[in-house]
Amino acid sequence: MAYNINDDCISCGACEAECPVSAISAGDSKYVIDADTCIDCGACAGVCPVDAPKPE
Ligand code: SF4
Ligand code: SF4
Repeated sequence: MAYNINDDCISCGACEAECPVSAISAGDSKYVIDADTCIDCGACAGVCPVDAPKPE
């Protein structure tokens, strides 16, 4: 299990600072989560203003 950031992301960067395992980085058109690093904690979803990170 890992979270995935959908296309609603507005690249605000808020989630990157909240991730305890630094799994989030800026991508070309949105922020992206490294599924192999993500521990499924949900912190990114809690701070996202547009609810873009979703559990998969
Ligand atoms: Fe990081 Fe947790 Fe979001 Fe996974 S669910 S990307 S570990 S903040
Ligand atoms: Fe994108 Fe939400 Fe992360 Fe901001 S907090 S960069 S909108 S996923």
